[in-house]
Amino acid sequence: TTNKENMQFQTEVNQLLHLMIHSLYSNKEIFLRELISNGSDACDKLRFEAIGNDSLYENDSELRVEVEFDSKEGTITVRDNGIGMSRDEVVTNIGTIAKSGTKEFLSKLTGDEKKDSHMIGQFGVGFYASFIVADKVTLTTRRAGAAASEGVRWESDAQSGYSLEQVDKATRGTEIVLHLKEDEKLLADGWRLRNIIRQYSDHIPLPVNMYKTEAGETKDEWETVNKANALWTRPKSEVTAEEYQEFYKHVSHDWEDALAWSHNRVEGKYEYTSLLYLPAKAPFDLFERDNTHGLKLYVQRVFIMEDKEFKLMPRYLRFVRGVLDSNDLPLNVSREILQGNKVIENMKNASVKKVIGLLENMIANEPDKYQKFWKEFGKVLKEGPGEDFSNREQIAKLLRFSSTLDDSAEQSVSLPDYIARMKEGQDKIYYITTDSHTAAKNSPHLEVFRKKGIEVLLLSDRVDEWLVQHLMEFEGKSLQSVAKGQLDLSALETEEDKKAQEKVEAEAKNMVEHIKTALGEKVGEVRVSHRLTTSPSCIVLNDQDMALYMQQLMKQAGH
Ligand code: ADP
Ligand code: MG
Repeated sequence: TTNKENMQFQTEVNQLLHLMIHSLYSNKEIFLRELISNGSDACDKLRFEAIGNDSLYENDSELRVEVEFDSKEGTITVRDNGIGMSRDEVVTNIGTIAKSGTKEFLSKLTGDEKKDSHMIGQFGVGFYASFIVADKVTLTTRRAGAAASEGVRWESDAQSGYSLEQVDKATRGTEIVLHLKEDEKLLADGWRLRNIIRQYSDHIPLPVNMYKTEAGETKDEWETVNKANALWTRPKSEVTAEEYQEFYKHVSHDWEDALAWSHNRVEGKYEYTSLLYLPAKAPFDLFERDNTHGLKLYVQRVFIMEDKEFKLMPRYLRFVRGVLDSNDLPLNVSREILQGNKVIENMKNASVKKVIGLLENMIANEPDKYQKFWKEFGKVLKEGPGEDFSNREQIAKLLRFSSTLDDSAEQSVSLPDYIARMKEGQDKIYYITTDSHTAAKNSPHLEVFRKKGIEVLLLSDRVDEWLVQHLMEFEGKSLQSVAKGQLDLSALETEEDKKAQEKVEAEAKNMVEHIKTALGEKVGEVRVSHRLTTSPSCIVLNDQDMALYMQQLMKQAGH
C-alpha cells in the first residue's frame, strides 16, 4: 500500500517501553490481562455511546473478547468488538502518554530494575505490556460507526517507532496480534492461555472466548473461558481475596494489590451495590488536577461511565477505586440526569461513610496497615475537614501528626491520643506549622512547652496550614498555634512561676521601651516573652496572621 507512514514515539513512551520490557519480565503473563482489560473497557464505552445511538452496534450487540493463537507462527491474537479507535485516537492513545506529570515521574527512575518496577506499578502498565513477550505488535482497529475503509493498522517493534496505515476493516473494534519473541513462543498454547485468562480475567463481566478443542483438535466453535459475571453482584462469602484483588487491578488500572476493600449490597429506599477499594500505593499523579480514574458507575450491571465529572467521591477521597451499581437509575440515563441526582447523591454520601468506616476499622484492628495507608494518602485526607463539613469530626479522628512526644518525622499521633495525654489544666491542642519537620521541631516557640512537658503537634505538610484554618477545634478543644498571639499558659503555671515572670517583666521594662523605639513601625508590639528558655528572642504572629513561611511563599510568588 501507499499510505503507510512511519512515526516516532514520544520520548516518554520510549523510556516507558524500555523500562517495561526489562523490569516486568518476571510478571510477563500480565500482558494478557492488560489486553483483555482494554477490550472490556472498549466494550463498556461502546455500550454507553450506543445508548443514544443504536446503529453503533452494526447488528452485532453481543459484546465480547476473543483470544486466538497459532503455535506454529508463534502468535497470539486478542480481539474485541468494542468502540475501536480512529486514526487520531490511535496516535494519541497508543503513541503518546498524555498524563500530566509523566516527565517528572520518569525522571525519577533510578535505573535499578527492582526499584523501577515498583514505580511502574504506580504508572499502570497497560497496552505496552505486550512488548514484554512480543517483538512485534500489530494493532488493527476501526471505530464503531465509521466506514469499513476507515480502519487503521498500527505496527511496532518497540525499537524504531511505529507505522500507521489506513486499511479496510469490516468489523468494528480492535484486533491485536502479538508476534512472540523467539523464547516466548510456548505461550501460544491453548492450555496456558486458558489458565492465564482464568487467573487474571475471570471476574470481568464480559465473555472472553476461545475456540473449543476436543482431543487436541481445534473446533470451529467458540466457548467462554472466564466466569464472565460481574464480581460485585456475587455474595461476599463466595468471592475469594484473590478474586477481589484481580478485579481491583482491572477497575483501578493499578499493578499492585489493593490495601483493603469494602463490598456492600444496600437495600431499602435505594438499592445499589458498592465495591470500594483503597490502593496500597499512591499513583504518581495524585496531586495533578486532572487525575483521572475514580469510581465506575454502573446501572443494573451496565457500565455507564468512569467518574470524571460527577465526583462520586469527594476530592479528599480521590484515591478510592471501584464500582457503584445502581438499581434505581434508568438504563438510558444521560449525563444531564446524573447531575445533582438524588439517587447519585445518596450512593455518594453512603459510600463516603463506608470508606471512613473502612479506615476506622483498620485503625482498630490493623493499626500497622493504617500507618501504611497514612504514609501514602495522609496528605490527601488532610483536605477532608475543609471539604466535608458533615463528616468533619470523624475525619479528624483519622488524622495523624508528628509531635514533640517523640519528635519523629513519622506522623502517628492522633487527636484523641493527644487529648488523652493533655496536662491537668490544659484546654488547647497546641501545634506549630512550618515548611519542614526539622524547622518545626527546632522552633524556639517550643521551648516553654518542652520545659513544661506539654505536647505540641509538628505540622509541616503544605496542606497543614489549610487544615488548621478549617479544623479550629476537636472535641471541644480549640487548636492553638504556639507561634500566634498571647500564649495563655497561666492555668499550667504555679504561683512561683507567675511571681518570677512579673519580676522579669518589671526589670525589663526599660529595655522593651528601648527596642520598641529602635524597631519603630517594623513591629506591632514588643513583649517580654515566657515562651523562651534558651533563645534570646522570637517573632510572634497575631492570631489572624498567616504563618510566617506562608507569607514567604506568597512573597516569592509575587504577592
Ligand atoms: P489504560 O487502559 O490505563 O488507559 P492502556 O495503555 O491500557 O492504558 O491503554 C491506553 C489507551 O488506549 C486506552 O485508554 C484506550 O483509550 C486505548 N485503547 C487501548 N486498547 C484499546 C482497545 N482494545 N479498544 C479501544 N481503545 C483501546
Ligand atoms: Mg488498560
